[in-house]
Parts: sequence; structure tokens; C-alpha cells
Amino acid sequence: MKVLILGSGGREHALAWAVKRSQRVTEVVCAPGNGGIAGVARCVPVDLKDMAAMVRLVEAEKPGLTIVGPELPLSLGVVDALQERGLRVFGPTKAAAMLESSKSFAKRFLQRHNIPTAKFAVCTSAAEIEKAVEFFHPPIVVKADGLHAGKGVIICESRQTAIEAAQGIFSGTLLGATEQQVLFEEFLQGDEISFLCLADGKSVKPLVPAQDHMRIGEGDTGPNTGGMGVYSTDAMLDPAMTEWILRHIAEPTVYGMASEDTPFTGVLYCGLMMTPRGPQVLEFNARFGDPETQAILLRMESDLVEALEACIDGRLAETELRWSPGASACVVASSCGYPGSYKIGLPITGLDAAAKVPDVEVFHSGSSLLDGQVLTGGGRVLGVTAAAASLEEALARAYEAMALIHFDGMYYRRDIGHRALRRKP
Ligand code: AMP
Repeated sequence: MKVLILGSGGREHALAWAVKRSQRVTEVVCAPGNGGIAGVARCVPVDLKDMAAMVRLVEAEKPGLTIVGPELPLSLGVVDALQERGLRVFGPTKAAAMLESSKSFAKRFLQRHNIPTAKFAVCTSAAEIEKAVEFFHPPIVVKADGLHAGKGVIICESRQTAIEAAQGIFSGTLLGATEQQVLFEEFLQGDEISFLCLADGKSVKPLVPAQDHMRIGEGDTGPNTGGMGVYSTDAMLDPAMTEWILRHIAEPTVYGMASEDTPFTGVLYCGLMMTPRGPQVLEFNARFGDPETQAILLRMESDLVEALEACIDGRLAETELRWSPGASACVVASSCGYPGSYKIGLPITGLDAAAKVPDVEVFHSGSSLLDGQVLTGGGRVLGVTAAAASLEEALARAYEAMALIHFDGMYYRRDIGHRALRRKP
């Protein structure tokens, strides 16, 4: 079977790598892909903002399965458009993807279904801001309703700064685009866990959990990024807590979406804060996370394509997902200046040597290929990922491989997993 993946980042590289290992797959196509993905898939150009172009491409390629990586095409309704044409596609419909594309929709849904989440208020106009903010004690979390690539959340230390942030979101001065709705949220404290599940519209199965490092600086300092590293271990969640999250968060979400005639099929990514009053939903994503997917898929022993097909066919409950015990970690190498401005087109060396380190996969987040030379092509460039029996070993392998790689201005955090390592007795 031919499988087509829409997307161009490290997540799509990991998906292409896992799909290629499936017994049933004869060809992997990635659109648009990147310089590293070209090593495991045939890359074809496409604009992920152009629905008609994506549909034309899938109709021309006729894959047995299309997997949608990023949130933008999901929020535009690419799954609906492909399904209408009888094409098999993994991912939620536009209506189901609103769990990610509209924070006000997600919060009201959580409230309707009694799923634990921070207290919130939705403002639909700038006139409502000052009254709404009175119900919150600083620090106050201010969120734009729509997709803003991780930049739509601002934590404010006073009511006045929260008001200014909300005004800036409405007017467009803060995020570059105007917004129809702004949310205030109670500030929650605790450890964050990424709890990703597969869902087939009526049932749900968890993947292994992960914790990411969003800040650019060591010790989790400095500005937020798309993710500088992630790790996954068995110790992160005990079986009782996993069961609790399934029963009180993941299942009620999938059942609730089905009861509202917007069944959710795809990856339900629950961003959770583990607070003293229990796990609370911070956000949903309607797709695989990046870089979580790189670390998670390295631990997956079952056939990814079979699992995704079981979701499409509504057979997830009968499908077993198997995982290698232990841990995995992904360390991201970024361009100098990221998350601000940075150069691209710089030659990357040492990739072949790094790939030879046992149990390591080097996934490309932003790279291109020119006359056989791999060049940097984004802010996040590589995700050096390793799996091992323990987190210490996985990190040691990833850092050993990372040390063999070079490009001008290359930066990576040397403390990925520090919270888990510190917690050990
Ligand atoms: P979101 O896109 O809603 O997940 O928010 C991005 C990040 O902002 C989260 O990963 C948290 O680190 C932080 N955040 C979001 N909501 C809250 C909250 N209610 N309390 C504390 N931190 C939050």
C-alpha cells in the first residue's frame, strides 16, 4: 500500500519512518516533506494552506491511506474534503478538530461534559474585558481563541497586564491578526504531561506519555519555542493514574464528541497539568505533537499503519498497541537566533556518523537537500532521538549522536529530561 503524509517537520519525518517499517507499506510519499524526509519518502511539493492543491495531489497520487500531520490543514477541513471524495484519511474532521482550533469551543465542551480544566471566561468583545478580568486572581492566563502556533497564550502577573494582553489580542497588535474571542483562565501549577491517544470516534487508546521542554533556555528559561526536546518514560505515569486520565478525561472527550454528532477520529492530544486537585486539561491538540511524536514512535512496537487504519475503520477497541518498555528522548538542534530570526541554508555535517549510534534516529524538523548536501531549513532543524532501557541511557545516546553533528550556530539544550532525572531517589 502507498501511504501519503501531509506535512514537513520532525513529526512527519518520524511518521514516515514508522510507516515505512510497516509490512503492508510499499511506498511512502510526503508532501511537502524536507531534506531528511527525502531519505525515507518521495517528497512532492504542496502548499499546506491550499485545500484544492492538497485534494488534487491526493487524487493524483491515489494512496491507500493519507495521514495529516499539522493542525492547519485539519482546521481547514482537508479530512472532510478527502472523505467526500471517498479517499481514506487519518485525522479528525474540521468540526472535530475544533477541539484544537478554537479554545473557547474546547473550554465550553470541557465544561459541558464535566471534564477537569481550569476555570475560565470567554470575552467576545473588547468591551467585556474589564468586567471579566475581575473574576481572576493574578497570575492570569490570557489566551487567543484560534491557532497561533503556540504564541497565543500569555501569562500575566497583574490584572492590568492581563487587560492589555487581551486588548492587544483583540486589536491584532499582539499576534499580528485580530481575534474574535479572548479567554481568561485560572493559572494552574504542576507538572505538564502530554497524554496522546488514538481515537476511532467511539473508543480511545493511550500512546506512551511524554513531557516536553518548550523554553529555549536550559532550566526551562527564556522564550517559548515549538519544543526543544521531549522524553517519555514508563515512570512518568503509573497505571492507576493512566486509568484515571482515560476514564475522566480521554474517554469522556471522545464520548462527548460522539454525542454531539462530531465524532473524533485521529490523535487526541491531551495537554495536562498534574495539579494537587488532580490532572486538569490545559489544551487539546487534534494531531500528533511535535516533538512528542519523535520520542513516542521510537517506543512503538506495533504496526503504526494498522493502528491508524483501525481508527478509520472503528476497530480500535480490538486493536492492541504494544510499546517497548523503558524510555526515549528527543533533543532538538535549532538555528542560532531561534525562536527569533535565524539564517537558513547552512550545511549540516555529521549526519551519517550520528545515524550509526545504536538506537538513535535523527529526524529532520527543518532541512533541505541541495546537490546531495543537507542544509538547515528552519528554526528547529533536527530532533536527535534515542530509545533505551532507561532515560539516562536514551539521553546519553541522543547526546552522543548530537555531538557528531555540526552546522554554524547550532544550539541545543543539554538538560533535556532534567526534571525526571532529578526526581529519581
Ligand atoms: P496551551 O496552548 O493552552 O496549551 O498553552 C500553552 C502553554 O501555556 C501550556 O503548555 C502551559 O505551559 C501554559 N498554560 C496554558 N494554560 C495554563 C493555565 N491555565 N495555567 C498555567 N499554565 C498554562
